[in-house]
Amino acid sequence: MKKAAIIGGSMSGLFAANFLKKINWDYSIHEMVPEPLSGRGAGIATYDELAKLVKLTTGYNKSLGTICNERIVLNKQNEVISKIKYPQVFTSWQYLYDVLQSNIDKKKYFLGDECIEILKKEKINTLIFKSGKEIQADLIIIANGIRSNLKKIVDENKPEFAGYVGWRGLVNEADLSEKTFDLISDYFCFVLPKNQQFLTYPVAGIGNKGLEKGKRRINWLWYKPVTIKEYNDILTGKSKKKYEHGIPPHEIKDELIKNLKEEGQTKLPSSINELINKTDQILVQPIYDLKCKKMVNENIIIIGDCAFTARPHAGMGVTKAGFDCYDLMKCLDNIELENLNHALISWEQKRMKEGIFLVERSREMGFYIKKDETIIMPKNEIVLDETAVSIKNIKNYPNKSSLFN
Ligand SMILES: Cc1cc2nc3c(=O)[nH]c(=O)nc-3n(C[C@H](O)[C@H](O)[C@H](O)COP(=O)(O)OP(=O)(O)OC[C@H]3O[C@@H](n4cnc5c(N)ncnc54)[C@H](O)[C@@H]3O)c2cc1C
Repeated sequence: MKKAAIIGGSMSGLFAANFLKKINWDYSIHEMVPEPLSGRGAGIATYDELAKLVKLTTGYNKSLGTICNERIVLNKQNEVISKIKYPQVFTSWQYLYDVLQSNIDKKKYFLGDECIEILKKEKINTLIFKSGKEIQADLIIIANGIRSNLKKIVDENKPEFAGYVGWRGLVNEADLSEKTFDLISDYFCFVLPKNQQFLTYPVAGIGNKGLEKGKRRINWLWYKPVTIKEYNDILTGKSKKKYEHGIPPHEIKDELIKNLKEEGQTKLPSSINELINKTDQILVQPIYDLKCKKMVNENIIIIGDCAFTARPHAGMGVTKAGFDCYDLMKCLDNIELENLNHALISWEQKRMKEGIFLVERSREMGFYIKKDETIIMPKNEIVLDETAVSIKNIKNYPNKSSLFN
């Protein structure tokens, strides 16, 4: 049986294992975090194609989350100033993780298993782990995210800061006032202050329980431009420790949260300020672009955010990770190992086109989130029409998958 070793046990790693299992490859997943991944709290916009990928791999054919039929833009006075119909399912990172993991052999998913290096040992690419363990496999899949310590063996490109951060949080619908609940809970809702974007949508309740209205949580995100000085300040914790790229929520300085709430009073409607004020734990995430020039080196490949990270406006990270692995499955099905590199190169050609397209498209979508008062904001309708839409609705998308036929 052919075997793949997968580094990273998040969305890309799980999709890879699920798709390889379908073509009778053996696999092992190595995740450095010691306990089952959870509590990442992020909301995920989904599309028919993502539901199809999940169904194909795991057989899961129920809804992935909760549905919103319409998208709206609110002004400072809580009035709906634009509206379009766009039925869409929203889920949480945790919900998807649980579904994808349910189909994986637990004995092949190793937690607390950090890979520190890939070396040639007697001409064979070998994974070296912190524990001292060494592994060789027919195929090595690096799926360890935007900050990968390993991907340099395939590609040297590094993430570039986009010039803004996303503040975010989750609030129980049950904790909202009736007025705010009625105004936002049914919608993918936007507010567009000058040079900024705020959005909300409902996701499953705590522990994935509660997809029904009233039992869900509202996920919110506020994209705000920052100077490099502000960026450094945000990433310096209460303890004065400087975090390189992301700061744990308990370290975010109280003053920054206070300033955020004050700015909300001047720029956002009262319904949205209610959301911010009722959030127990506010998180912040700098936004980056990452494009690679190569995805393959011999029998080693990079997938998911590790290869291409598009800004979140496209809402495509998980779907792209799924297609990286769907296309991989198609390229590897029934091949002889002597043809592996050839198959991987043809996979790379297809995946590079999509990765480059998505990174550029999402960069254009966030062009106005910038410290530049001269920038003209896009029309509300454009933001509603373009944010987090299905590949089917994206003009010029390269190589639309046969999954759509
Ligand atoms: C604010 C925001 C909103 C988003 N919204 C959406 C959305 O609506 N829809 C969508 O599809 N996507 C969205 N995304 C993107 C999505 O979250 C990512 O694309 C997705 O999580 C990428 O998965 P990944 O497995 O490639 O990487 P990651 O999720 O980063 O996982 C990498 C894993 O590798 C592990 N790891 C790292 N180094 C090692 C090592 N040396 N050894 C072993 N393990 C290691 C890490 O612990 C981690 O578990 C959003 C992102 C952000 C920031």
